[in-house]
Amino acid sequence: MSSQPFSDTEESNVIPSTTSTSLTTSRKKRKANVETSCSNKSYTSYFFHIDEGNIEHAYCKICEHNFAGSRQTPYPYTRKGGNTSNMIAHLCDKHNIIKDNYTDFLDEHNEVNTIF
Ligand SMILES: [Zn+2]
Repeated sequence: MSSQPFSDTEESNVIPSTTSTSLTTSRKKRKANVETSCSNKSYTSYFFHIDEGNIEHAYCKICEHNFAGSRQTPYPYTRKGGNTSNMIAHLCDKHNIIKDNYTDFLDEHNEVNTIF
């Protein structure tokens, strides 16, 4: 008097839980692979302009602006090896510009806004 003759076949269709491959594929996490190549661009490039005579030297635009009309000349920062940490330090020390607020110092054309 069996009312469910196909219950056995259903049981046999169950996939064994020992498959490790299905586990790894299901665990594949979606990576937050955001393209930040543009925004990741060193913000120092906005505030330093390259010496036309020596492309390895960069001058702080704000200092140049401040020194305009004076005998002072902005200190040339070397960009050798793409190392911008000293330029970042300058922006932070002298102008309180950090990567979180640097856009406040730029106008809509991403030019340094020297009218603070
Ligand atoms: Zn400066």
